[in-house]
Amino acid sequence: MKILVINAGSSSLKYQLIDMETENVMAKGLCERIGIDGHLKHTPLVGDKPVFNEDVPMPTHSEAIAAVIDKLTSKEYGVVASMKEIDAVGHRVVHGGEKFASSVLITDDVIKAIEECTPFAPLHNPANITGINACKAVMGDVPMVAVFDTAFHQTMPAKAFMYALPYDYYKKDGIRRYGFHGTSHRYVSARCAEIMGKPIEELKIVSCHMGNGSSIAAIDGGKCVDTSMGFTPLVGLPMGTRCGDLDPGAMQFIMNKYNLGIDETLNILNKKSGVLGVSGVSSDFRDLDNASADGNDRAALALEMFQYWVAKVAGSYVAAMNGVDAIVFTAGVGENSADTRKAIAKYFGYLGVTIDDEANKKRGEDVMISTPDSKVKVFVIPTNEELVIARDTKEIVG
Ligand code: AMP
Repeated sequence: MKILVINAGSSSLKYQLIDMETENVMAKGLCERIGIDGHLKHTPLVGDKPVFNEDVPMPTHSEAIAAVIDKLTSKEYGVVASMKEIDAVGHRVVHGGEKFASSVLITDDVIKAIEECTPFAPLHNPANITGINACKAVMGDVPMVAVFDTAFHQTMPAKAFMYALPYDYYKKDGIRRYGFHGTSHRYVSARCAEIMGKPIEELKIVSCHMGNGSSIAAIDGGKCVDTSMGFTPLVGLPMGTRCGDLDPGAMQFIMNKYNLGIDETLNILNKKSGVLGVSGVSSDFRDLDNASADGNDRAALALEMFQYWVAKVAGSYVAAMNGVDAIVFTAGVGENSADTRKAIAKYFGYLGVTIDDEANKKRGEDVMISTPDSKVKVFVIPTNEELVIARDTKEIVG
């Protein structure tokens, strides 16, 4: 069975074609500037086919999907003989609200329900639906599955997902903590249990997804019991450009003092804050490492704040779960920055965490970076959201 995994944004579309017999990626690629002009980078990963990296007109997502199918099946760049070999499509969908606690076969009713969740993710869900409709238009009745970023967090108890606001805002409007990066937290926690050789039902895991966007999840017995992102992905940890937790009173003060509207203000909190805002240097942790090494105090402060927040939130989840067996680092920063992991792990000394510096240097593989006698195990596990989407699609379609 071969499954096409699609992650559609408003002007971009990422894809992978995965052979489910081996779980190998056969080809991957990225369409960019959809609706502007259009560019496709298509990378075949089986055989010795060349990479295609050229402008392709893409007035809408339908032309983008058509270009992807064309390349996947072409003589020169293709990895399958025809579209008939693609058995199903798995779509990443950002927000499933309270309607979707797991992945689901896409029907007209499901598309309607995803549309109903659009007020919760006004930028992302419409793009995801556009991707689904474009696939339908180009691929006909190939079965499709939606996999939601929010679904894994639907097991949170009310005491964790409720905001202490007047109750009607939850009851009538669905204002609550939803959480994001669920597919990633689900993948790395399951993989962590596999590596530890224990049933996930017996483990308490703190999963730290640290990328440009960052969130932490408390996973008790395989079920998410708390997570740091909220109604939107803006809160929790300070991120690349997002502010993380903030007193709404500070926001009101800034709006009044600088005569800013809500959209301008949210743009600042989403795009100009986080480690970029504090450092004034970059949202990229590599740039911050370099600037900090060159003596830039604000870059050093931004890094320190990030590490402190990860430790603080992770520590609160140890309390929430009344213990922890394993801590997992994943995503761009978590998978690549040994210094950041080491600095965060220092805060976990009280848990009996000790780091193996040699293991902590490894990259690109699943690795236990704690010493064998460390009371709590610490892992780096490269995330693989596409594989989860493909596996769910296979299970539902199969
Ligand atoms: P992601 O959102 O998971 O793709 O992560 C992207 C982020 O990972 C980038 O913004 C970088 O800050 C970070 N990153 C990637 N490689 C490294 C590295 N070698 N050291 C520190 N940070 C890194």
